[in-house]
Amino acid sequence: MIPFLDLKKINEPYEADFQLKLKSVLNGGWYILGKEVQLFEESFARYCNANYCIGVGNGFDALVLIFKGYIQLGKLEKGDEVIVPANTYVASILAILQADLIPVLVEPKLETYNLDPELIAEKITSKTKAILVVHLYGQLAEMEMINEIAETNNFIIVEDSAQSHGAISNLKSKINNQQSSAAYSFYPGKNLGALGDGGAIITNDPKLAKVLYSLRNYGSNAKYYNDYIGFNSRLDELQAAFLNLKLPNLDSDNNKRRAIAKRYLTEIKNDKISLPYWNSSKNHVFHLFVIRTPNRAALQEYLVQNNIQTMIHYPIPPHKQKAFSAWNSLSFPITEKIHNEVLSLPMSPILTESEVGFIIEILNEY
Ligand SMILES: *Cc1c(COP(=O)(O)O)cnc(C)c1O
Repeated sequence: MIPFLDLKKINEPYEADFQLKLKSVLNGGWYILGKEVQLFEESFARYCNANYCIGVGNGFDALVLIFKGYIQLGKLEKGDEVIVPANTYVASILAILQADLIPVLVEPKLETYNLDPELIAEKITSKTKAILVVHLYGQLAEMEMINEIAETNNFIIVEDSAQSHGAISNLKSKINNQQSSAAYSFYPGKNLGALGDGGAIITNDPKLAKVLYSLRNYGSNAKYYNDYIGFNSRLDELQAAFLNLKLPNLDSDNNKRRAIAKRYLTEIKNDKISLPYWNSSKNHVFHLFVIRTPNRAALQEYLVQNNIQTMIHYPIPPHKQKAFSAWNSLSFPITEKIHNEVLSLPMSPILTESEVGFIIEILNEY
């Protein structure tokens, strides 16, 4: 069986180094917000070309804390509306709600699976204050247009970069705008994955950074002095130590993903399968390689018969979830079509040439 994602195999090459790091953290005797977290924050900020990186508990908290940070700074307030793609992982939408803000869903483009900038204007009201952009499956959203809309309307831009570690080219220009920040997740299956939960925020805004360093740690900058009603969401010291070992390989891992994507895109030839769009100037990092097919269940079953495991990201759109019953009757036809047809092929830096060749061959015979 070719598994969709083999996390054990991805982490195996690091085993000896992980052991050494574990020993060093253990012997250091300092287990929360220590040297490894600080080193990771410095390295990841540099890697992302950002001035500040704040390590937090997970990607979801990173999003919630950004919104709570802007609320503390008086740039957002309870009840403000945030534009968000209707086609995203539910975490993006939940984070807006957890910060007492109101998500306003906008359809994606079928071609890119990402937010359609042309459809933002009609959703803007006097309460709209921010856009939460999601770089879904590792492909950057259309930031030129989105930046322009944000600038014209003085909106804050928050990026959900949980699937786009290393898709930097755009982030650089974006993050120079002080009204912006990005949330990362180091969930084990992401392009940069820990051995447990982890997350980070990057920003160039010194005021936001200062609030966030405090908010993640009970709203405290100096021990036992609380400036804000804070949270406990710190990047774990041991996870930071593991991430410090993996970060140097992120670019080469992303290149391996791109090489696999290139083969899939040029060698899969089947009328029943729509391949994903890749604008090579857009620096796609292929967190997922997502095809579409009208009869998905049949294709998925056929692949299982041929020992190929696939996944669906995601089977039910947020507005059709039980948790959001008020939205259930709304219609987002493009989002619904995507959720009905998408299928994620095996994609990771450790897939072998022959595995990729086999997957292509089986798909072409379908
Ligand atoms: C993984 C993910 C998150 C949440 O990250 P966690 O670390 O699991 O909390 C948020 N948004 C998107 C798009 C994701 O893929």
